[in-house]
Amino acid sequence: MKGPLLKVENLVKHYPLGGGIFNKDPLVVRAVQDVSFSVETGETLCIVGESGCGKSTVARLLMRLSEPTEGRVLLEGTDIASLNAHALRDGRRRMQMVFQDPYSSLNPRLTAGQIITEPVENFERLSRRKREALAAELLQKVGLAPEIMHRLPSDLSGGQRQRVSIARALSLKPAIIIADEAVSALDVSVQAQILNLLMDIQEELGVAFVFISHDLGVVEHIGHRVAVMYLGRIVELASCEALFANPVHPYTEALIAAAPAPDHTKAPHAVPIEGEVPSSVSPPTGCAFHPRCPLAEERCRVEVPALTPMPDGRLVACHVRAPAEASV
Ligand code: ADP
Ligand code: MG
Repeated sequence: MKGPLLKVENLVKHYPLGGGIFNKDPLVVRAVQDVSFSVETGETLCIVGESGCGKSTVARLLMRLSEPTEGRVLLEGTDIASLNAHALRDGRRRMQMVFQDPYSSLNPRLTAGQIITEPVENFERLSRRKREALAAELLQKVGLAPEIMHRLPSDLSGGQRQRVSIARALSLKPAIIIADEAVSALDVSVQAQILNLLMDIQEELGVAFVFISHDLGVVEHIGHRVAVMYLGRIVELASCEALFANPVHPYTEALIAAAPAPDHTKAPHAVPIEGEVPSSVSPPTGCAFHPRCPLAEERCRVEVPALTPMPDGRLVACHVRAPAEASV
């Protein structure tokens, strides 16, 4: 395989808001605007940002649960839009998803064993003995006892249910798992257990993660690199270490300043973020963050800043902190 495991190029997703046929300029939600990134084998790329900034839309585009308005997604070098139904099924073996709420994403009428072996049974018929052996092996991988296979989702705790959905995602030995707010519904102590489980699984199996969360504390725990999104765009993409030690984009800085996690040193000039997230139907002109930004200049109101490489290798979209003319 040449190039990265997953490559996302200039993804755009607009949702039309049925404005009627007489409306010449129909309203659209600009959910994702020109998003590009790549993920290497065995790596965890986190996507973080406030609610509504487009994280779940990116996840759905990666899984081809929705078609992009523009741009493309390459999985192991292949454009997923070019896959026919059969090849897409195979592609889905390589890329699996874990959702926020395991209760609504698990079939309540199936036992845990049936749930986690179902993806494999879509490809090959298993004897009862083989199915139970596979279920036991997968349950063990996620730290659950084999007896759990006979239980229904309603008989499991929230943490156990999320472990079952991770086991299901692992059943086809994927190269990458897209986890959208996968621990957000869990208690803090259970969250930490699930994050540690995911990191152990990554070490053992070399699986990559796109880990989506609105929670910076969670991201800091699990991420290798972090993409910060604001109103549909990536505004900063950096190694986890660099991002938390020294946020460059004023939005990243404000997010970290506002985060409750006490265990990282705060940027000295950080001010808490003010104002509301603007609407993605009519985003502000220029840099979408400018109405809330303490550093905004005239240029920020007019021109969309490009993601610009900084000397330490991170990418930042900010006219003030990462002026394009001074880039490396
Ligand atoms: P996040 O996961 O970061 O909270 P989403 O990707 O769910 O954000 O949503 C991004 C934007 O797109 C929001 O403004 C949301 O209301 C809008 N949106 C998401 N799905 C749809 C849809 N199916 N139709 C119209 N608008 C949508
Ligand atoms: Mg979401």
